[in-house]
Amino acid sequence: MRRKSGKNESFSSHPSPFAPTSTPSSFHLSSPLQTPLSVVRGVGPRISETLARIGLRTVEDALYTLPFRYEDRRRLLRIAELREGEGAVFCGEILASGESFTSRSRKRLYEVVVGDGTGQVSLKWFHFRADWMKKRFLVGRKAFFIGEVKRFGALREIHHPEVEFVQQGRSAEEQLRSDPLAFGRILPVYPLTEGFTQKTARKIWKELIDRFASGATSSVPEEIRRRRDLMALDEALRRAHWPENTASLTDLEKGRDPARRTLVYDEFFFLELGLALRRRGVVLEEGIPFQVAHRYTKPLAQMLPYRLTDAQRRVLGEIKHDLMQPHPMNRLIQGDVGSGKTVVALMAALVAIENETQVAVVAPTEILAEQHFLQFRRWLDALGLRTVLLTGSTAAREKREALEAIREGAIHLVVGTHAVLQEGVEFRRLGLGIIDEQHRFGVRQRGVLRRKGENPHILVMTATPIPRTLSLTLYGDLALSIIDEMPPGRTPVRTRVLHERQRGKAYELVAHELSAGHQAYIVYPLVEESEKSDLGAASEGAQKLEAEIFPDRRTGLLHGRMKPEEKEAVMAAFKNREIDILVSTTVIEVGIDVPNATIMVVEHAERFGLAQLHQLRGRVGRGEARSTCLLLRSDRCSEDGMRRLQVMEETTDGFRIAEADLQIRGPGEFLGTRQAGLPDFRVADLLRDGRILEEAKQDAFELAENPALLVDDTYREVRRTLMERWGNRLELASVG
Ligand code: ADP
Ligand code: MG
Repeated sequence: MRRKSGKNESFSSHPSPFAPTSTPSSFHLSSPLQTPLSVVRGVGPRISETLARIGLRTVEDALYTLPFRYEDRRRLLRIAELREGEGAVFCGEILASGESFTSRSRKRLYEVVVGDGTGQVSLKWFHFRADWMKKRFLVGRKAFFIGEVKRFGALREIHHPEVEFVQQGRSAEEQLRSDPLAFGRILPVYPLTEGFTQKTARKIWKELIDRFASGATSSVPEEIRRRRDLMALDEALRRAHWPENTASLTDLEKGRDPARRTLVYDEFFFLELGLALRRRGVVLEEGIPFQVAHRYTKPLAQMLPYRLTDAQRRVLGEIKHDLMQPHPMNRLIQGDVGSGKTVVALMAALVAIENETQVAVVAPTEILAEQHFLQFRRWLDALGLRTVLLTGSTAAREKREALEAIREGAIHLVVGTHAVLQEGVEFRRLGLGIIDEQHRFGVRQRGVLRRKGENPHILVMTATPIPRTLSLTLYGDLALSIIDEMPPGRTPVRTRVLHERQRGKAYELVAHELSAGHQAYIVYPLVEESEKSDLGAASEGAQKLEAEIFPDRRTGLLHGRMKPEEKEAVMAAFKNREIDILVSTTVIEVGIDVPNATIMVVEHAERFGLAQLHQLRGRVGRGEARSTCLLLRSDRCSEDGMRRLQVMEETTDGFRIAEADLQIRGPGEFLGTRQAGLPDFRVADLLRDGRILEEAKQDAFELAENPALLVDDTYREVRRTLMERWGNRLELASVG
């Protein structure tokens, strides 16, 4: 089977770690695991169509679709032993059978009473065909029953149990022995809803495992497998589907059984190995070694109205160390909102400029780019250096002039949106690219920026803290610096969740802050995803506030459709206290810095993600005075929504908020899905498998240091698997 060649090409266009021993032909050979399900005996066209609908096309797809839970049928219970809330398998004789009604709502139901000499239990069906049920459930028949025990008053009952009748003329024991796939063991339950029953699914998977699992061999080096106590891959697959009878059910249910651990490790290991090699590939490239001459950084340090925090100083030290190496820097700064990342980036930029190179700063939105521009220009102007802003709304003539000045090297620092990444933008000598990421930028942008110079240094900043497990996978190829300390003099923002009906109370608190000489933000979410109505809600709100609620206060409006000059004018007016209340859409999420604003009201808070709320809230609490954030929720706030808002009340620690967000929403949504370059895992679960990820990362990065990995025959299989996985599954690999 041929894989798409484009991806492999771009991967090997890296100063290639894979040439020449791993020739492409080694993975063009089709592996039995790649057999389409449609041609497998015992599957057939109808079932393979059903499987294709849930994305399973090859044997491999199916083998890696693990049971989502297990059913313990190792031991038959006696009816006396049935406990509420537990899944049970037992054998019994039908004592009574017939139609009846629920006592309260008079709904039709079919009830069967079963006994085994130790007790009785009632089985109920709410969807049924009465004549068919009557024929099946004859008094005196024996059967096995499987289901979850519920309690109804003093009685135990089971709804819609699975039933296996004991064949006539057979004892229960004989039946058990004759059907080893159904009884006496732990059974897999597959994540399938339509098309066929669990019984059929088990048969299909059993067949696939018996015939094909042996084709799955792990190329995780033997030494590592032994050290980490991993199974052989085929054995792991077999046991993940059909656990041994000695397996711990708790481990299975929590995903901690050794079989699954092996599969997860395998998946993480090759991801991390790829990331490690990418990083190494970049590290080994030639870069521009800088000298730190302090020509601009020292004067800046003297001009700043504050001293850098220890954390800022430490991170700056790490950056400077990287910049002085003959290889390009590739570093990520993580720091909570307000931790002071900008000034660290500014210092790094000045080092680049001291070395007669240019700097590009890329931000995800226009407003953030403008905000950065204002901050950078302020200090660069003071040092006699030139800064320019480049966004989608830069006028054509201005843009032409800017592009020329950049090409000639007359501009020292360019700030902008992805406009900076476009083709016409050419630098005389780009020494440092800074990406203020907000995790909206993927790896791709880094690649584009890198190609705008001769291996410039790259610095990525993320304002939203990313849980460690995620940053390992997302940024595994970046060195990490963390600013884990806030500038002094901040008091945590007090946060309260109010129901919309309490809006009056919120406004009272706003009035209170205003009369103390402070300012306020009132934020509206995007409504129905259309900017028009977003603008509508905010401008309506602004009008109402101005006309009815705060008639003697000055109100300003800020929204995404305003021209940059208009936005800047409104922000400047707010900063200069010409406006008391700034009504806005989420455009204030990032960048705005007005220490006198001490209260924020967020309308429809449940519509925001936690990370976004955290960003928003970061706009207050920037001065000496104690600040307040009021989150208004509507009736439509879901339970998850309530949990999220509670997290906001409980903590202002961005890392804890990010962890909670990840727990509640899951990694895909947390990151706005694949755009962020998050790979699809087949078995691994980032929420659950953080520990295994750490181990796999450590091992993979260690192995990547070993030169033999790229050439030695011992590692041929490792290289082959790596090519296979990276060529096929990981989008990351397609970026140079
Ligand atoms: P973020 O990390 O969210 O980008 P900023 O760089 O915008 O944070 O900094 C937030 C605020 O803190 C700015 O007003 C900045 O001037 C101020 N600041 C940064 N570093 C310090 C420091 N060491 N001491 C005091 N204030 C600082
Ligand atoms: Mg910032």
